Amino acid sequence: MDDQRKRREKFRYLPEARNGRFILTDRARQPEEPVSMPAPEPEPEEPAGICPCPCCGYLTFPVPREDAIANICPVCFWENDVFDPGEDDPSDENGGMTLRQGRENFRKYGAVRPDLVRHARPPLPGEIPQESGKTGA
Ligand SMILES: [Zn+2]
Repeated sequence: MDDQRKRREKFRYLPEARNGRFILTDRARQPEEPVSMPAPEPEPEEPAGICPCPCCGYLTFPVPREDAIANICPVCFWENDVFDPGEDDPSDENGGMTLRQGRENFRKYGAVRPDLVRHARPPLPGEIPQESGKTGA
């Protein structure tokens, strides 16, 4: 019995070993297409965003912040946290920074982190909130 099982195992093993060599083609590798699409640029006459960034207050969010998943504000570089941790709770999206810290850094350096300042850009005219239409406080 034992002997028979060993023989069968051996017999099964051998063909597998021989067929183990497959010639793998490069088919799985997809040719990388050159990125020809330029980054979408907002129309100059239209505001780039309609909703204020929770950090810098400029209208850089195209959708309300609840829907702006992983939206990074181009002005202050705050990454939107849809879980809304609040003013003084660390935001995972921003490396544990709180919104208050981000705001202070933006005022101090021009971005939520000093090393991000060079990536940040000034707000477009359409992103500056209009004070005139404000009602009450
Ligand atoms: Zn911002």
